[in-house]
Amino acid sequence: MSSQQLLNAINLSEFEKVIILSPHLDDAVYSCGGLLWQLKDSCNVHVITTNSGDPSMPLRQGHIAPAIRRKEDILVMQKIGCQFLHVGFLDAIFRRIDGSLDYIYDNIIGLDKPAAEDQLYQEALATFLKKITHQMGKSLIFSPMAIGGHVDHLITALVSLGLEDGQTTVLFYEDWPYVANNLQQIPKTPLSKYGLELSASYHCTIDPEAKQSLVRMYESQLSTLFESDAVLLKNIYFRKVEDKPVEQFWKLTKKR
Ligand SMILES: [Zn+2]
Repeated sequence: MSSQQLLNAINLSEFEKVIILSPHLDDAVYSCGGLLWQLKDSCNVHVITTNSGDPSMPLRQGHIAPAIRRKEDILVMQKIGCQFLHVGFLDAIFRRIDGSLDYIYDNIIGLDKPAAEDQLYQEALATFLKKITHQMGKSLIFSPMAIGGHVDHLITALVSLGLEDGQTTVLFYEDWPYVANNLQQIPKTPLSKYGLELSASYHCTIDPEAKQSLVRMYESQLSTLFESDAVLLKNIYFRKVEDKPVEQFWKLTKKR
């Protein structure tokens, strides 16, 4: 499938709001940081980070406190000149079975459907996002497409599909850095299980150094995700069009 330059194919200024949905406090920049850098200081661009709330104490062992991650994200959003919203839903790793102290998930990656115990969260997210998009005019939403199968990304993608209507257009971004190691999931994305297929492709040529510097501002995540700066750069260059690094976006439609 041939890919079009996103900013040539779609005039973002025609939308009252352009929203990048970010399950966690880094996803929007990890996957769309090059695009966000090009749109720097655009007043209609908003990043909504949904799963950035504080869990009850004690914090699950081995995880960074959301407060630390929110501070990192605020600095990045200020650097990009982007409007942002931190929403208080919990990260999947902190969500518990309703009425119990047990966590819903031991493993949150590589899933192709959410746990039944997570239905309440999925409904709450849908209600929240519908309310937000209902208040807007014509809007363009960028959602993760759940490459890598992180359950929060998957739920966001499923909810985003339900937001599409005459006023709201949804495009899907490739979940980075998962996608760099899971390219074989395209075109068979985790969403193909839901009767969807890729129907159009767009890309945005990025400034790799600018993206690298934004990614490095999420200090708490660096050592877990990237063994070294060289690995980080290799991940930024994983996808190229005409030998230039790009971020790729997809339209998904129901299989006929
Ligand atoms: Zn994430």
